[in-house]
Amino acid sequence: MFTPKRSLVVVIAVLFLGLSMIGCGAKQPAQPDIEPKSGGLQVVTSISILADITRKVVGDRGQVTYIVPIGEAPEHYEPVPSDFQKVSNADILFANGLGLEEWLGRIVSNVTHTEVAYLTEGAPTIPLVGRDGADPHLWFNVKLVTDHYISNILNALIRLDPEGEKVYRRNAELYTARLQELDAWVVDQVQQIAPDRRVIVTTENAFKYFGEAYGFDTAGVWELNSHGEGTPQQISQIVDLVREHRVPGVFIETTVDRRYMEAVAKDTGVPIAGKLYTDALGPEGSSAETYIGMMKYNVHTLLKGLR
Ligand SMILES: [Zn+2]
Repeated sequence: MFTPKRSLVVVIAVLFLGLSMIGCGAKQPAQPDIEPKSGGLQVVTSISILADITRKVVGDRGQVTYIVPIGEAPEHYEPVPSDFQKVSNADILFANGLGLEEWLGRIVSNVTHTEVAYLTEGAPTIPLVGRDGADPHLWFNVKLVTDHYISNILNALIRLDPEGEKVYRRNAELYTARLQELDAWVVDQVQQIAPDRRVIVTTENAFKYFGEAYGFDTAGVWELNSHGEGTPQQISQIVDLVREHRVPGVFIETTVDRRYMEAVAKDTGVPIAGKLYTDALGPEGSSAETYIGMMKYNVHTLLKGLR
């Protein structure tokens, strides 16, 4: 469903490129392909969640941007020309890995001079059900962020910018302390939900790591976002499960078409209990514009919907 908009962006980008080439007379000095790197370390991440976590470690020693826009699922993303530029301008690209960013290969094969680091490297994973591979949504377990994402970020930054080691270590320490508080807060908050009501039913079954860490069962219309999901069989399977387990409420996600879950709610009579952030942060003013804010928003939503 994003295709028309995307091709429009490509057309505009191509037009713009064409116009700027016409605008460039032969007498003007040639523009370098890659803009000079200024303002410290330039880091680009695949998704906004990783950008926020990375920013906390980078601090003021560099700049962090991300590729997949707010509100879009990384699994469905199609890179636009400016993404190649972003990666080309960066010292390093931080990706989540585990199949979250299948489009990354296209960028990486075109921009070979920018290093890529996968932030889930070395982390324990949960396998996908009914298909090969591991679930990539590890950031929903705060401990995996402190123990793996942050240490992978830290190692890469120190390697690229050894002079900043002290600063990066200090930043990581401060942020880790905040995340440990967050982890304890989540553990404490979810106690308000009776154990038999701790079940998260979403369109994409993206809460497995959250469920494992904080004691929830999870289910989805589908396992992982990909093209062609949401078949009538998948809908009817989740409808049966919601009925059978007397699920108190189901959830929509900010990065997935809500119509699938609306169909489930309609078929089962179970209410949509709220909206969860899964693969992207929220926009300004949503109170989910940081990783910590997003986790708290989700926990508040779960409390409201399941308590
Ligand atoms: Zn996802």
